[in-house]
Amino acid sequence: MRIAIIGAGIAGLSAAYELEKSRSAGAPVEYALFESRARLGGSIASQVVNDAVIEGGPDSFISEKPAAAELCRELGLGDQLTPSNDADRKTYIVVHNRLVPLPDGLMFLVPTKLVPTALTPLFSLQTKIRMALELLHPPRPAGEDESVAALVERHFGSEAVDRLADPLLSGIYGGDAAQLSARTVLPRLVEMETQYGSLTRGMLAAHQQMRTKMNAAKPAPGVAAKPAGPRGIFTTLRGGLQQMVDALEARINPAWVRRSTAVSALEKTATGWRVTANGTAEEFDAVIFASPAWAAGALLEPVDAVLGEELRGIPYSSSITVNLVYDENQLGSLPEGFGFLVPVSEGRSMLACTFVHRKFLGRTPPSKAVLRAFLGGMKNEALLTEPDDKLVAAVERELREILGTRTMPARAKPEFAQVARWQRAMAQYAVGHQERMARIRARVATLPGLKLAGNAYDGIGIPDCIRLGRGAARELAESGRPADVSG
Ligand SMILES: Cc1cc2nc3c(=O)[nH]c(=O)nc-3n(C[C@H](O)[C@H](O)[C@H](O)COP(=O)(O)OP(=O)(O)OC[C@H]3O[C@@H](n4cnc5c(N)ncnc54)[C@H](O)[C@@H]3O)c2cc1C
Repeated sequence: MRIAIIGAGIAGLSAAYELEKSRSAGAPVEYALFESRARLGGSIASQVVNDAVIEGGPDSFISEKPAAAELCRELGLGDQLTPSNDADRKTYIVVHNRLVPLPDGLMFLVPTKLVPTALTPLFSLQTKIRMALELLHPPRPAGEDESVAALVERHFGSEAVDRLADPLLSGIYGGDAAQLSARTVLPRLVEMETQYGSLTRGMLAAHQQMRTKMNAAKPAPGVAAKPAGPRGIFTTLRGGLQQMVDALEARINPAWVRRSTAVSALEKTATGWRVTANGTAEEFDAVIFASPAWAAGALLEPVDAVLGEELRGIPYSSSITVNLVYDENQLGSLPEGFGFLVPVSEGRSMLACTFVHRKFLGRTPPSKAVLRAFLGGMKNEALLTEPDDKLVAAVERELREILGTRTMPARAKPEFAQVARWQRAMAQYAVGHQERMARIRARVATLPGLKLAGNAYDGIGIPDCIRLGRGAARELAESGRPADVSG
């Protein structure tokens, strides 16, 4: 079976790796991995500059989803897995140029602790009263999908959208709470609303259940506990996430990797698929699309116009990261914690800033500080056309205004600055995403040999992209095996 993989981001690379494994195990598969850029890895792009790891794209993956750490272990990178430094985890929201810490007890946008919520300067008295009254919300029958902003506003008011939901979603994924689907992005909260009414009561009940489960799972006295290994909310690789890309690249057949080769046309033939790239057409039995959905949609349009349109209808946001490496001696002391998020209402270019040397230890030399700003998002795409020096200057100015000149004196100049632009790289799960996915799955099921993988469908983060890429490859490799006649 010959399989074309279109796109060599983490989803496409994971698919190629899985096919290579099947091939080594004797499955009759061959593949060609098409990538329009000269480099592999898609949004993952890290480099080491003067011993400091600089991540142009993602900096880590969420530890709760096992696919990424599992793959790293398989690739021999287990000893490189590095947990986030959760002991120092603290995040601030910028409110009128001041850094206000997120109150203790906040879980997925839901306040669960009375005293920290009552005392935080993050919310006005009116919002705090609303948060207390939220405990009385009656259960609500499941209805149509709605935006995250609508769900949060109904429970906690508009200030909670502005100061919590919006900065958390835009600072992490460049998303817009007014557009994102509550059912897709926050499915647990939607379920809690149906069951408990109050999200706070639902979250407290879930927390209690988890504690009971953990206590039950504790080994009996005298029985040694299983070694837990390094564990933080986030995990990264000591030398940068590029290690994962390099290790995958080393495992796949270099002769089958087509760099700088954008697929320009696709046809369905009587027996399979015809893929055209660089003016040459090749026949394949199956195709795994691991490109962004908008690129897949454009190529699939002539094959199935409805499917093409559905795929092109998945919105994407663009973003920019600006990494600044400082000599720590030039700075005053940064606030404790991992960094801060900036609500859109603050009117700044920056959506978030991470104190990288604090979030992951051992990836920055001792006397250096790495500050990484995140810009752009659904509400500020125009920034993408600004030149690098303007973006760096804007970030330096905003850091000085937000952190103060004692922390960021005018004389403090970054020793190194890197700007990375990510045009239409992050899919946005807009209201109605689940319904759109049901329609997409139904159309794909009518096209034998077609698979979709990547961040547009069932999880935006790296672990989900790996899971979908490997899953698509495995299904195809298994479908190509000679039928089992033993029984
Ligand atoms: C700035 C930023 C920060 C992020 N932070 C995190 C984070 O901290 N943690 C996390 O888990 N996730 C994070 N994400 C999300 C995560 O990185 C991405 O969702 C994931 O890497 C996407 O992988 P992918 O393989 O689906 O797509 P991509 O990485 O976008 O790869 C798709 C590939 O397809 C290629 N392609 C497109 N069209 C064609 C064509 N016609 N022919 C051939 N090739 C084509 C593209 O060149 C690209 O290389 C972040 C993303 C960005 C942009």
